[in-house]
Amino acid sequence: MAQFPVKSSVWHILGAGSLGSLWATRLARAGLPVRLLLRDQTRLDTYTAKGGLTLSEQGQRHVFQISAQTLDDPEPIHRLLVACKAYDAERAVASIASRLATGAQVLLLQNGLGSQQAVVESISQAHCVFVSSTEGAFRDDDFSVVFAGQGFNWLGDGQQKAPSELLTALEQAGIPHEWTPDILDRLWRKLALNCAVNPLTVLHGCRNGELRAHADEVAALCDELVAVLTGCGQAAAAEGLHAEVSRVIEATAANYSSMYQDVAQGRRTEISYLLGYVCDAAELHNVDAPLLHDLRQQLVSHLTVKGLPND
Ligand code: NAP
Repeated sequence: MAQFPVKSSVWHILGAGSLGSLWATRLARAGLPVRLLLRDQTRLDTYTAKGGLTLSEQGQRHVFQISAQTLDDPEPIHRLLVACKAYDAERAVASIASRLATGAQVLLLQNGLGSQQAVVESISQAHCVFVSSTEGAFRDDDFSVVFAGQGFNWLGDGQQKAPSELLTALEQAGIPHEWTPDILDRLWRKLALNCAVNPLTVLHGCRNGELRAHADEVAALCDELVAVLTGCGQAAAAEGLHAEVSRVIEATAANYSSMYQDVAQGRRTEISYLLGYVCDAAELHNVDAPLLHDLRQQLVSHLTVKGLPND
């Protein structure tokens, strides 16, 4: 992918939710220029009435008066952080695509796989960077975010050369990060970990640690995931998967998975970009994956019964 110089250091944030707000407030705190992109005038009015974006971190709350604009504002965009859910990303980016300057940097924060590729194909004038984040944040109110879990951000575009100006900005903002040429391996690995843990926590209605009681089921799923990843040319992401899944289950034993929380709170899940993506990839590469297909079917039925979107 070609690298172009970025003409403006302004960060536009598309998706002022949990992670988008976490990034926006840290960038603004470092004195970097930030603009929130809000859906429409109603959201902009709500934001203005709130007086800014609130970040709660280690028990301290700070309000940042970050400037905001609607999607149809005429300002060109040179650096964009897409922080919508995977199922919203493509449509949201399409709504600002005409504002993207040639060579604009577009950072894609979405979990799973599939949405990034769709965005890349829709904005050929831009330079897309994939991000795999293990940071944790949630909204405790509209335009208010709690930094709930320290983590790390891996960035990459499949190339060796890191865009130094971008990484300098992240350094300034104290956003922990590293550029990696293996970003796809990392996204696949995170996807596989998610598939081995999250759907089962939803179906068994349990915390991560309670999956110890379903160790055989987890082990069989891991074996199948390893076969699928290997069949898809992602052998590196498959290495030692079962051992890492077991470690994650221990380390996060008291936690409810993100998918469990989405379902419990009546929110749409990102199933199509997680388990759905793996099942489709298995089919595409002719890898037998009966357990994963069955798990997907059970999850789809579970979501349908709950009255939630099942895609
Ligand atoms: P979130 O809190 O739901 O935030 C998404 C934001 O996108 C919402 O504010 C939503 O607006 C906005 N949005 C959607 N479509 C839009 C559009 N067309 N125009 C403008 N704004 C739009 O989601 P999140 O938890 O930050 O997650 C974002 C991504 O990061 C997901 O893929 C998630 O899996 C991943 N991730 C999250 C975490 C975490 O701890 N939160 C950690 C790692 C990875 P409304 O509020 O108006 O709907």
